[in-house]
Amino acid sequence: MRLIITALMVLAVTAMQSYADESNADEYARARAALVREIEANVRQTQSYLGREVLDPRVIAAIGKVPRHEFVPAEYQSSAYLDQPLPIGYEQTISQPYIVAVMTDLLQVFEGGRVLEVGTGSGYQAAVLGELCDEVYSIELVEPLGVRSGALLQRLGYDNVHVKIGDGYAGWPEHAPFDGIIVTAAAPHVPEPLIEQLRPGGRMVIPVGRPFGAQRLLLIEKTVAGDLVENEVLPVRFVPLKRGE
Ligand code: SAH
Repeated sequence: MRLIITALMVLAVTAMQSYADESNADEYARARAALVREIEANVRQTQSYLGREVLDPRVIAAIGKVPRHEFVPAEYQSSAYLDQPLPIGYEQTISQPYIVAVMTDLLQVFEGGRVLEVGTGSGYQAAVLGELCDEVYSIELVEPLGVRSGALLQRLGYDNVHVKIGDGYAGWPEHAPFDGIIVTAAAPHVPEPLIEQLRPGGRMVIPVGRPFGAQRLLLIEKTVAGDLVENEVLPVRFVPLKRGE
């Protein structure tokens, strides 16, 4: 008898657990949908900078799909779908979703494409890119962050996202050239190796400026002839791109 009661209790707890998981999943999906609407509104408000009123629907769909709550520390999970940067430890941050959406849109990544990211951080931007192109190569300088994000991306099934620990200033020459390069930390100037590793016809999105000072988000296009065309998009604020030893 006692055995049966225990078994029933286990069943009830399991049922409650899966009910809770499901309603959490619904709640996160609703929060993500609201976040997408907020990003769309922010894009309309900043259209004079962006030169457009709406982002690529594929980018919007990727933001609507990637579970940002998995990429933030447990204590910030309830804020995961606010349009804000959040601390991820080691004095680093996960970028504001609007910025992730705008930078991804500027890259114009496509199926079959290969992208390099400098500054894996939480892994969120890499996951968004992983939804949109074939292969993502992402470099993180802070070892525990890179290890944690690499494992998380694996657990979530992003097999096309490859994380390595190292100084992203040097790029990842073994996998170059890249169709797109995205840098998610601000550098005083555009690292030369990254320019070299950009395919002719490719695009780079990078914040450039002083650490914690005025920074500009740049879109750099490499023409088929190999010339560089630079466009300033937005004033931004990123953590600094550091140099490894
Ligand atoms: N893309 C991240 C945002 C990360 S913040 C996300 O979606 O969460 C910028 C990251 O760049 C930090 O994690 C920081 O440690 C890393 N970083 C700084 N300098 C670097 C360098 N030279 N090479 C690689 N990563 C660097």
